[in-house]
Amino acid sequence: MKDQQTLGNILRRQGISRRGFLKFCATMTSMMALSPTMVPAIARALEQARRPSVIWLSFQECTGCTESLTRSHAPTLEGLIFDAISLDYHHTLQAAAGTAAEAARESAMKDNFGKYLLVVDGSLPLDNPGYSTIAGVSNKDMLEEVAKGAAAIIAVGTCAAYGGLPHARPNPTGAVSVSDVISDKPVVNVPGCPPIPVVITGVLAHFLTFGRLPELDRLGRPLAFYGNNIHDRCYRRPFYERGQFAETFDDEGARKGWCLYKLGCKGPVTYNACATTKWNNGTSFPIESGHGCLGCSQPDFWEMGGFSQALSEPIGISGSTLAGGIIGGAALGAASGLLNRRRKADAMARHEKVGVDDLKKDGETS
Ligand code: SF4
Ligand code: SF4
Repeated sequence: MKDQQTLGNILRRQGISRRGFLKFCATMTSMMALSPTMVPAIARALEQARRPSVIWLSFQECTGCTESLTRSHAPTLEGLIFDAISLDYHHTLQAAAGTAAEAARESAMKDNFGKYLLVVDGSLPLDNPGYSTIAGVSNKDMLEEVAKGAAAIIAVGTCAAYGGLPHARPNPTGAVSVSDVISDKPVVNVPGCPPIPVVITGVLAHFLTFGRLPELDRLGRPLAFYGNNIHDRCYRRPFYERGQFAETFDDEGARKGWCLYKLGCKGPVTYNACATTKWNNGTSFPIESGHGCLGCSQPDFWEMGGFSQALSEPIGISGSTLAGGIIGGAALGAASGLLNRRRKADAMARHEKVGVDDLKKDGETS
């Protein structure tokens, strides 16, 4: 690679103390849902990691994913990680334009062939190559060209991951996802409309630490961040269990912070880290501000009924309780949640084993 600086060197140059760096590693470890015993292994791996070249391609998108990332406040984990990568090409963020920008992309691809990370936001319009182009090249051709030399691809946002809103019926552009076009490279989906910034950087941190992408669920999402549904971690869950629901956005239940299920919350069938990581530096998330989850990290989330329409009528309500807590959508979510939780636990156990074995090799554990 062109830039042989290690992440440790870069962070030290930025004035990050050893203590600050270890604190950062501890936060990353917990963010990636790994055991605290992994902190020394992660610190060592991150410190020695080379600055990776990242090429970011934006296709049929609204720039919301980039906005999400750049709206985070400094200094943050996101900021530290982004300072530590070499973002060699990004339409919105780069100073270069036109021929100079494309020359930067080509040179990054040539210098780092087989090693660079490709980040994509936006879907790919297949029905007419002219719908969306970069430097006169169709999105599909550009993706195929840049994917050839990529070590891995991160599909950021629901559009890149599953086609997103452009894919909604009647899908006038023939919008498809990254993995509909590329099948011979590892692709990790980081869906959300937009995704949580720290989840994007968490995936980058995982790649820097372990040299590979994290464990994924059946929809290609990292289990560490998408292993639980919103409902399982929602602070309004006790109200759901007691059958206390807001019926309108301004009734007494809404004022008292009761469950938003009847107002269309899709939390029971939506897998994302919003209820734990939250947004805006952990300040809040949509349910905390009084609106149900729209399900934006699920494929075709707009098809789950109207945004203010309940998944199904709660059944088994007796008095003020919800007998058995059985709700069609929730039951579906719970079954799939159990599977995801088991897979997440397996993934964590594997990581811990890798970490402990690494440490043993280095004689850091007895
Ligand atoms: S239905 Fe929505 S608001 Fe109610 S507990 Fe579940 S996630 Fe929270
Ligand atoms: S709460 Fe639901 S709709 Fe809102 S950002 Fe999170 S996953 Fe998307």
